[in-house]
Amino acid sequence: MFKFKRRRSLGIVFVLLPLIIASMGMMWGNSVMLDGISSSVEKVDQTRNQQAIRSAFNNEVERIASLLSDNAKWDDAVDHAYETFDEAWLLNTWGFSTADGNYDSAFVIDASGKSLIGFQAGKKSFEQPSQLYGNSFSRILLDLPSDAKTFAVSRSAIKSKLGVAAIAVAPILPHTADRQLTSKEPRFLIFSRTIDAAALQALGEQYVIKDLAYVDEVSSSTGSNHKLLLTDRWGDAIIEMSWATNNLGQLARQSYFGHSVIAIALLLAAMTPVAIALRRTLLKLERNENDAQTLARRDTLSNLSNRLSFMEGVQSNLNATPHLRCTVMLIDLDGFKNINDIFDHAIGDKLIRAIAAGLECIVDQDCKLARLGGDEFAIAVFGEQAEQRAIAIAENIVMFVAEPFNLDGRFAVVGASIGIAESDSDAFEAQELLRRADIAMYAAKESGGNGHRFYKKTMDFKNSENASIADELRKLLQNADFDINYQPLVNSSSGEIRGVEALARWPQSSSKRFSPDRFIAVAEQFGMIDQLGQLITKKAFHDAALWPKLHIAVNISPLQLSNRHLVAEIVALSQEAGFDLRRLEVEFTEAVLIKNSKRVREVIQELKNLGVSVALDDFGSGYASVGFLRKFNFDTIKLDRSLTRLAASNADAMMIVQGAVLIAKGLKAKVVAEGVETEEEAKIMRLAGCSILQGYYFSKPLTAGAITDLVMASPHLPHQLESVKQFSSK
Ligand code: C2E
Ligand code: CA
Ligand code: CA
Repeated sequence: MFKFKRRRSLGIVFVLLPLIIASMGMMWGNSVMLDGISSSVEKVDQTRNQQAIRSAFNNEVERIASLLSDNAKWDDAVDHAYETFDEAWLLNTWGFSTADGNYDSAFVIDASGKSLIGFQAGKKSFEQPSQLYGNSFSRILLDLPSDAKTFAVSRSAIKSKLGVAAIAVAPILPHTADRQLTSKEPRFLIFSRTIDAAALQALGEQYVIKDLAYVDEVSSSTGSNHKLLLTDRWGDAIIEMSWATNNLGQLARQSYFGHSVIAIALLLAAMTPVAIALRRTLLKLERNENDAQTLARRDTLSNLSNRLSFMEGVQSNLNATPHLRCTVMLIDLDGFKNINDIFDHAIGDKLIRAIAAGLECIVDQDCKLARLGGDEFAIAVFGEQAEQRAIAIAENIVMFVAEPFNLDGRFAVVGASIGIAESDSDAFEAQELLRRADIAMYAAKESGGNGHRFYKKTMDFKNSENASIADELRKLLQNADFDINYQPLVNSSSGEIRGVEALARWPQSSSKRFSPDRFIAVAEQFGMIDQLGQLITKKAFHDAALWPKLHIAVNISPLQLSNRHLVAEIVALSQEAGFDLRRLEVEFTEAVLIKNSKRVREVIQELKNLGVSVALDDFGSGYASVGFLRKFNFDTIKLDRSLTRLAASNADAMMIVQGAVLIAKGLKAKVVAEGVETEEEAKIMRLAGCSILQGYYFSKPLTAGAITDLVMASPHLPHQLESVKQFSSK
């Protein structure tokens, strides 16, 4: 008896002691890891806040510019600001309004910048704009055309005598196209608005950034490291701002704690190889905690920026400086495939590195350079001389690449085809510039490679193709002829199919094929998105009767929000099909929230009142601050599939994903991982805290019939989830 007892207690010591030691080690390891995650959450939050503040100022400048544009390009203004200089009219029209908040100063000036009349705070002002606006004023004037014909609005955030201000200036010109200005010298209208401490606080409230304030007004004891230096459009510093932390890192720690205790318990329960491998993955996280952010933005082979970082960098430059000239170049190597075929991949990799190093020498500091993938590189050049500089850079690159490369004693000969696209009034988005550069690059390849070509409209078939897609689309919509596929959303712990997302498909019956990304863009461009959205919703409500237990998710395009009857139409369609709206989830993307936040909140509230859930789609690709997102009360946050890919590609990068999940959880929403393609991704996203998974690993989007078969066979997806479940129960 005693012996038995002794043996048992020895057994307990042998088994338990290592477990206790191991668990203490893990506790410590987890705490280090938690620090990593919480600092990553802080970083994500901080970057988002900075972007939100920049966009708040940009919006303010754009608002003044658009107001000014309406007032300056106006026949009545021409009548009263030139030959007959009608002071009463000017006071009535622009003077009194300087008291009501939209703008607080207005001037009419001549071509030399001298005030002909000015108003401030509702009264006439005798101040000269050059004194009020300081150095920036002459620079703003330099931007304006002097030919008394061309209309343009020059705008910026600047430092005025009264503080930070948004200012816009434009020539006063007729609106009617065939009306000429009789005066040879144009006069200009200026509106500006001072963004004082109170206005800044209001912006902070609007964008939900806590305690947003100018730095010289914040007591130094706050010691906040949440700061942003605001610059004018010439890059000169205006003022520094600070805000209070949301303590998301702390929140992340707390909400992660429950999770990590479970993780430890699971690991203690069974030290399986999977669990050990996972443990290693988690331990690796702590090492490169500081690199986590940069990692997502670097190309590991060449050590240049990657596509994501390039696109964001170009777009934020374009957003920060209206009318900024920008030239995007796309470089593709000629004959690279041969190198990879003849030699091995290691030599191919070496060549990519050598070329990346060369490009870094050729390209100026103020340009952006990135490797987009494979043998493709991109460069963006900014400023007035962008075009000439791009030509010089392209010529240097062609010469540099044409020289044979000596790679470990073997010579590789390649060439470079370069496509170049310049920004213009219909191409000011990074995405569109890169698309055009790509078209020009193919033209360069077609004419023999080893050279550069500029994009021309005639190279581009997209516009005429879009028009023909629009024709087809119109016919299909008239006949209510459209297909839908449904993709299951799966509970990450039970494997149960919780619902399906309805995805529009170009009908099988048509002889042509177009991807949803393509025809939805066309439907938006040609004003047919409402009709398409309605048709998809109608069909989805109808099909939903086949699966009474499932939720149905439907995508809503940002443009559908301008349809005042959107919600009423959804209600009518649900009644017609006998569909219970509590089963509906609508998905919006983040882009629409910032532009249209008031309207979106109204729509969301109306939908919620009807029992509809609301999901934020593609989370992880946008800029809104976390506080701002909180205002919308999303039921679900769908992590963009780039995050799923990132988490699985690299253990260190998982921290970023975990940060995103915790932010989503902080918004009190369920978290869905999109684009789960492999078992490993399923495991990782589940572990990161996603309660719902969606992706090819479980099922591709299927026809309604195939979904019925799937649900009938079993409401779970047993095969695919088996390993996930096994993993979770350990
Ligand atoms: P989304 O809303 O993000 O939809 C998910 C997309 O990811 C779908 O592409 C889906 O087929 C794809 N996908 C799902 N699982 C995986 C995976 O494991 N790996 C990969 N690589 N992809 C996966 P799809 O069907 O081509 O749709 C593209 C986009 O078109 C949708 O993106 C959505 O923004 C839009 N869209 C589709 N149907 C509609 C619609 O009825 N109305 C509106 N407004 N937009 C729609
Ligand atoms: Ca979606
Ligand atoms: Ca999505």
